[in-house]
Amino acid sequence: MDLFSKADDESRARTLRDTLNRYAHAYYVLDAPLVPDAEYDRLFRELQALEAENPHLRTADSPTQRVGGRALTELAQVRHVVAMLSIETETDTTEQGARAFDARVRRKLGLSESDPLVEYAAELKFDGLAINLRYEAGVLVQAATRGDGEVGEDVTHNIRTIGRIPLRLQGDVPELLEVRGEVYMRRDDFERLNARQRERGEKTFINPRNTAAGAVRQLDPAVTAQRPLAFFAYGLGEVRGWTAQPQTHSAMVEALAAFGLPVCEHRAVAKGAEGLVEFHARMAALRDSLPFDIDGIVYKVNSLALQRELGFRNREPNWAVAHKYPAQEEITELLEIEVQV
Ligand code: NAD
Repeated sequence: MDLFSKADDESRARTLRDTLNRYAHAYYVLDAPLVPDAEYDRLFRELQALEAENPHLRTADSPTQRVGGRALTELAQVRHVVAMLSIETETDTTEQGARAFDARVRRKLGLSESDPLVEYAAELKFDGLAINLRYEAGVLVQAATRGDGEVGEDVTHNIRTIGRIPLRLQGDVPELLEVRGEVYMRRDDFERLNARQRERGEKTFINPRNTAAGAVRQLDPAVTAQRPLAFFAYGLGEVRGWTAQPQTHSAMVEALAAFGLPVCEHRAVAKGAEGLVEFHARMAALRDSLPFDIDGIVYKVNSLALQRELGFRNREPNWAVAHKYPAQEEITELLEIEVQV
């Protein structure tokens, strides 16, 4: 490679890093995105590709090496015992994306064509804000945002205002249970909230995702209490003393529901690539009629033992992928953002 194109790559990578870091700060810290997600994703993929070809361009401050944003300094900080990670995005939005993920998993597990199909838990990717709920002896003692994955913000005071999140779990609960899930806002609640804002001559909100994220990260819980927030549980953090802990992701979600936590009904155990393709298509048909926004589908290897075997790399687990739909919402989001400017 000649010197000229090397310098070009370096300068392009720096521009991409600076731009993406600025967009990520606006999105994660200020809850006020500057560009549509599809534009952010496009630049992110370009930087990933550039870094893959030129590993020396992969700097520590690159957004490809980090999870989410930094904690707001006004809120107390919480260190996560189990890191809250990102999920790799499958770039092929067609059904081939699901097949590519299954092929990667099988390769990493050393499976051949004659081996049985891998079982997956397929879920919606809710478009909200990830939260870690800490229950000690079944009582909610702390709630924190993901932050940079290692350190999040203490939002316990705000989370307590969300009626659907139990303050006390029911049943035979573990001594310590950290539950992970998404705080989101339903579309109809969002419309009602904006209608109320208009009636009062106050500023309207951009979209349900950023409104929910902003509401959770308020300093005054009285403001959060005015926002109609909802929650779906989909994962675990630190756990102690859970006798008969489930061995699969899908059984774990069932157990969370039995403890009284809200879980989404649109989920499935899918067998192999064909199962993933079927779920992806079924949810695509349902997507517009869902009462909340989704960002795509998440596929997770269902067996927790296989998840442990597959492990993690950098900021993402090897056993999960986010599979988006073709950018149909790109145009709507752009329009919404343009109206706001
Ligand atoms: P991610 O892509 O790393 O995925 C992990 C997150 O998915 C989790 O933290 C959780 O919040 C969420 N999630 C939803 N449903 C889930 C489920 N069923 N199981 C597990 N996790 C689930 O998340 P991210 O870093 O928050 O990025 C999300 C999107 O944010 C990106 O695709 C990007 O488009 C967007 N983004 C946009 C801008 C912008 O400027 N518009 C800036 C930064 C990020």
